[in-house]
Amino acid sequence: MSMTAAQPGTLAGLAGSPPRVLVVDDEQHMCDVCARTLRRAGYEVATATDPRAAVDALRGELSFDLLLTDIKMPAMSGLELAHIARERDPAIAIIIMTGFASMENLHQSVQRGVADFLSKPFELEQLRLAVDQALYKRSVLQDNLRLRALEQIHRTSETLGTMLDLGALTTALLDAALRQTGCRVGFVLRALSPTRLGAPTPSVADAALLAAGQQLALRAMHQPALLTAEGAAFAQSAGRELRVALAAPLRAQGAVNGVLVLCDDRATAFPPGVQEEIALVANYAGSALRNAALYGQLTDAYVRLQELDRLKSEFIAIASHELRTPLSIILGYTMMLRDQQTDEQRNYLLRVIESAKRIKDIVDDMVSLRHLEMGEEQLRFEPCDAGELVAQVADRLHAAAAERRHTVRLELADTPLRFYGDGEKVRLMLVNLLANAIRFTPEGGEIVVRAARTAQAPEGAGRIILPAPPSSPPGPWVQFEVQDNGIGIPEREQARIFDRFYQVADSLTRDHGGTGLGLAVVRELIITLNGMLWLTSAEGQGSTFAFALPELPAERAERQR
Ligand code: ADP
Repeated sequence: MSMTAAQPGTLAGLAGSPPRVLVVDDEQHMCDVCARTLRRAGYEVATATDPRAAVDALRGELSFDLLLTDIKMPAMSGLELAHIARERDPAIAIIIMTGFASMENLHQSVQRGVADFLSKPFELEQLRLAVDQALYKRSVLQDNLRLRALEQIHRTSETLGTMLDLGALTTALLDAALRQTGCRVGFVLRALSPTRLGAPTPSVADAALLAAGQQLALRAMHQPALLTAEGAAFAQSAGRELRVALAAPLRAQGAVNGVLVLCDDRATAFPPGVQEEIALVANYAGSALRNAALYGQLTDAYVRLQELDRLKSEFIAIASHELRTPLSIILGYTMMLRDQQTDEQRNYLLRVIESAKRIKDIVDDMVSLRHLEMGEEQLRFEPCDAGELVAQVADRLHAAAAERRHTVRLELADTPLRFYGDGEKVRLMLVNLLANAIRFTPEGGEIVVRAARTAQAPEGAGRIILPAPPSSPPGPWVQFEVQDNGIGIPEREQARIFDRFYQVADSLTRDHGGTGLGLAVVRELIITLNGMLWLTSAEGQGSTFAFALPELPAERAERQR
């Protein structure tokens, strides 16, 4: 068996070498005269007086551009030979030399694509002219066939390029490749590594065929183009002897994603044109296969992510439910004890109560997140004063800010900023934002809390985490801001910190404490209140978290309750 790696870009008769002619006549003298004339005209010529030797030559490695054959020979007719030549190369030029041209011969000749007849005896000039013309027709036919093949490849590549399902893609590739080559058997082997191949698609029942295919495929993976095996039997399959095989590596960005294996029981080698076409299809298929594999990985990752998200929700639900009751009991009893103890014991109990309250805050965050996510949160609209809300929050966190020697400044409008809204929810958001500003600003920091009325939803201010919903009224808006000059948040993390449990610093290296739920609560509250939320932050310089709520006329707020 001989194996040949096809050189990309070579086509029969086009590689700069002179056209090759095979002259077949059972009369040696006739062969010699024709060969001499054609060689003189610049052609490369081979001759055969036995048509069986001509068949071997036609099925051999050399390809011919033109067959010039006598019609009547003892072992085989010239028309049969023409048929065999056409099997190997559908565009080969054929000229029949005949003593007499009957109607029947003419009919069969047309069917076999014979280009011309030369009636014996003929002038040598006549022979030269006929060969020139037949070769010209061949080149036109070749162009035509190539164009049709390219059209087909284009259609195939378009189909493959839009497929993201690996199974369907492999099937479509095989269908196209089998159609293009006329091969009987084909399968695709996915590459698991540069030296390992996966199971074939579709599965191959014949173990010997699979082994031969895998061997050829493994070799093809390290070839620049495709690899063919022909000559001796490649493999046996279902009683048929598969004599030719082809393995085309499916490459994308330098890596082999799989190998397409095609085999057939035809006796002749693959014509170079077919090899080129398959190399082209394989090229497109390589990229399509890579895209489909990436898409598959992405889908899997997305499913895993969704599952993770579900587990987070589950965890919040269970933890908040299971912690709430024992925590209430601890707080209840310690408060009772606090009032009955000596000073020293009371001091200890106060610390227990403080810690229990911290746990209660976390559990409260979990519960409100749970309610918000389930859409169970009740809104309570009431007349509010933005300045008052800000002042209450600053007051509540005064001790924490003082402990870290921060200055907290309130920037409020001169006149009271009254609006209709859920004051409790606004307070909760401000507490979370201010507590973060206090924790994520190095000691002695500057924190500013602002409240103002704006005519319309602000745009282009930092990174928009939640844009104004389309259903919200055009304005006015009540806007709150918490600005710090703390550690800041890297750009790539800015959208993620609003995810449940997400924290910028690793939990093992973190020195700020916290659960990663505060901003998730803020985000959910803003969604519930139809507001918008944005963030401006630079690492090492500080952050400004801002949110705006549409200001509702009292009667509309009543309806939203
Ligand atoms: P927690 O504060 O409990 O960790 P949050 O959801 O409130 O959870 O915040 C998530 C993360 O966002 C914090 O861990 C921190 O990394 C980052 N972050 C929040 N606010 C600020 C801020 N003002 N400055 C710097 N980083 C912040």
